[in-house]
Amino acid sequence: MAKQKNKLMDLSEVLNYKPSNHLVISMYLLVDSTRVLKKDYLTKLNSMITESKGNIESDLKIEKAQKKNIYNLLKKIKKYVNDKFMANSTRALLIYAGEDGLWKVLRLPVILRSKIVIDPKPHTQSLRTLLENSKKYGVLLIDREKAQIYSIYIGEIEEYLAAFISEVPSKVNFRSQAAFREKKILSRIEEKLHHFFKSVNDRTLELFREGKFDNLILAGRKDILPQFANYLHSYLQSKCIGSIYAEPDSLESFVKEKAQEIIGSFEIETKNNLINKLFDEYNPNGWGVLGIEAVISSLLVEQIRTIIYDRCFKQEGYICNSCKYMTIKSKDRCPYCESDLIYYNDIVDEIVEDALNQNCEVIDIEGNEKLNEAGSIGAVLRYKL
Ligand SMILES: [Zn+2]
Repeated sequence: MAKQKNKLMDLSEVLNYKPSNHLVISMYLLVDSTRVLKKDYLTKLNSMITESKGNIESDLKIEKAQKKNIYNLLKKIKKYVNDKFMANSTRALLIYAGEDGLWKVLRLPVILRSKIVIDPKPHTQSLRTLLENSKKYGVLLIDREKAQIYSIYIGEIEEYLAAFISEVPSKVNFRSQAAFREKKILSRIEEKLHHFFKSVNDRTLELFREGKFDNLILAGRKDILPQFANYLHSYLQSKCIGSIYAEPDSLESFVKEKAQEIIGSFEIETKNNLINKLFDEYNPNGWGVLGIEAVISSLLVEQIRTIIYDRCFKQEGYICNSCKYMTIKSKDRCPYCESDLIYYNDIVDEIVEDALNQNCEVIDIEGNEKLNEAGSIGAVLRYKL
């Protein structure tokens, strides 16, 4: 797996943005390496920037100074994508750049249509749906005296959740082996440990109930983890998807890498289970569809709950200019509104975008033979027709 820079991502600035008379650029760029080469997405970015500049230039409501700010921000985005950005496993790049200094770069694990939106606030619709519908993984690092928990989601976003410190002044106690051997002191330490583990469990359970994470990964020394596991609420135990053995001073990046591995295999298993259920249960009972045509039909009537597709799946098709009707068959006019149908050499990102706008869960998978034989795309439905 390609390594990504892990850094604490705080999205509140974007999600709770207070609109003012400053403008914000929201730039989406499809960079999925199975679909586009770097030179292709750079060309796309350039043409989007040219188009946006044209629109801004001709907008009489925007002042000259403000236009200049926007042009500079567009230049900054272009420079970033040209010089610094490497797609690796990223499917879509999202950059927020505001006149007031807002600068946020997000690497998204789903394909999205490339576009630039310039508004008094960040364009967050797709991001919010992704946040709502993505699984969050809590990573709890635990030692005898201290612990911390953070969550990982949408591939690389991390949210710091809590830190815990035991009242045991460990270094003083453990330094003296003679004192350590004294049963009295030992039992006092064990009692403190008992309280510490108990309070870590309580707070972690609270965080779980607050929806801060869906699944849990434990990290800590090999002798500590089994001890702590005894304190873990049965609820949390059932949500635990793996353990990482690590010394307390293990590099942060080591734990993160291991956590990503655990998450990766857990997600593959979950996705394969979903596909099996789609074939064996949902589809035979009318709660699921398979293949591009059935998926498009269900999407057009907002029937889809979860959409699942192979990462490499591409499909050419036609989309109506005005009502967004979609089809893979060549037609002259939209059967609904008589408008022109526009040809796209790939409509899969359009399907994903529509699905996100309808608040669907979007899942991609790679190389599931069953799904690929059935057309590489399928969906679980919210209701039957
Ligand atoms: Zn139409």
